[in-house]
Amino acid sequence: MVIIIGAGPIGLATGIQLKRKGIPFRIIERGCLVNSLFHYPVNMTFFSTSDRLEIGDVPFISHGPKPTRREALEYYRRVAESYELPINLYESVESVEGEDGNFTVKTDKAEYKADKIVVATGFYGTANKMGVPGEDLPKVKHYYDEPHPYAWQNVLVIGAGNSGVDVALECFRSNANVTMCVRYGEIKPSVKYWVKPDIENRIKNNEVKAYFNSEVKEIKEKEVILNTPDGEVTIPNDFVLAMTGYKPNYSLMEKLGIELTDDEKCMPVHREDSLETNRKGMYVAGVVCGGMDTSKLFIENSRIHADQIAEHIAQNMP
Ligand SMILES: Cc1cc2nc3c(=O)[nH]c(=O)nc-3n(C[C@H](O)[C@H](O)[C@H](O)COP(=O)(O)OP(=O)(O)OC[C@H]3O[C@@H](n4cnc5c(N)ncnc54)[C@H](O)[C@@H]3O)c2cc1C
Repeated sequence: MVIIIGAGPIGLATGIQLKRKGIPFRIIERGCLVNSLFHYPVNMTFFSTSDRLEIGDVPFISHGPKPTRREALEYYRRVAESYELPINLYESVESVEGEDGNFTVKTDKAEYKADKIVVATGFYGTANKMGVPGEDLPKVKHYYDEPHPYAWQNVLVIGAGNSGVDVALECFRSNANVTMCVRYGEIKPSVKYWVKPDIENRIKNNEVKAYFNSEVKEIKEKEVILNTPDGEVTIPNDFVLAMTGYKPNYSLMEKLGIELTDDEKCMPVHREDSLETNRKGMYVAGVVCGGMDTSKLFIENSRIHADQIAEHIAQNMP
C-alpha cells in the first residue's frame, strides 16, 4: 500500500501511474480535490495551455486559448472520477512513523499502514509573511479571490510578480483605487508577456500608483506607512493584498523527517531520478520539490514525477 499525501494535480498523477502498475494506494487530502487550484483567484487563467496540464492521458479541452480555474477544477474532477482514484478528502496528514515497508500514517481522523509514502503537498498552504506591524489585521489578505469587495476602496497591492500584477489590474478594473508597493525597481520580467505592458501602461498613465524600490513599514487601521527612496510615505488604506508568495509547509517536512538543502532554496533532499528523500521509502512529488524556489516547478514540468516515482516503487515494493 502506498499513501499519497495531497490530491493536487501531481498527487493525482502519481495515483494514476500506481494504478496502471497495479500497486494499491490511497490519496489523503486535507481539503477538497485540487485544493490549491480551488483557492486560486476566481477569475484566474492559467499561463499553460490545457494540453500541458493534462494527466493520465485524459484530454483537457478548454474554450479559450488558456484554460480557466473553473475549467481546471472540472477537468481534475473528471480525471479522478474516470480513474476511480481512492481519495480521502478533508483529512489532514499529521505525522508518519516507522520505516520503509512499515510506515504508520497518522491523520486528524485515523491511522493507516503503508509501505511507501509520497509527499505531494505543494506550497500554496503557507503564505510568506512580511513581518511588519499590523500584518495580522483582518484587512490584510495573503489570498485573493475576486475584485468585487474592493470597489471604491483604497487597496495596496504588495508584490509585482504574476499574482500581484493580476490582482492590481483586476481590482483597478473593478473601481478600486490601487497602489502597488514593489521591492524592486520594475515590474518583474517574469510577468506574463501579454500582461506586463498592460500594468506598465496603467502605471505610466497614473491609473495605478506604484512605489518602486519600496517596502511596507507598518499597516494601520486606516493607513499604511511605506519606506520609499524618497523617505517615509503614509497613504490612506482600506485593504492590503499581500501577494508576497508562498512556501512549502516546512514544519510538516520536519515532522516527516525530510532533510532540507542548506542553501536559500531550502529544497527537500531527494534523488533526481527516483525522487526518494533521505528517508527511505518516502518520496516527494510536484512543486514541493523546489522548496523556496516556487517558480522552478509547475504542473507542466513536474507531472513527470509521477512516472519516476511509480517506476521506482514498482521496483522496490516489498
Ligand atoms: C496563481 C497560480 C497560477 C498558476 N498557474 C500555473 C500554470 O498556468 N501552469 C502550471 O503548470 N502551473 C501553474 N501554477 C502552479 C501550479 O498550479 C501548482 O504548481 C500546482 O498546483 C502544483 O501541483 P502539486 O500537485 O505539486 O501541488 P498542489 O496543487 O499545491 O497540491 C498539494 C495538495 O496537498 C494538500 N496538502 C497539503 N498538506 C497536506 C496534509 N498535511 N495532508 C493532506 N493534504 C495536504 C493541499 O491541500 C493540496 O491540495 C500556478 C500557481 C499559482 C499559485
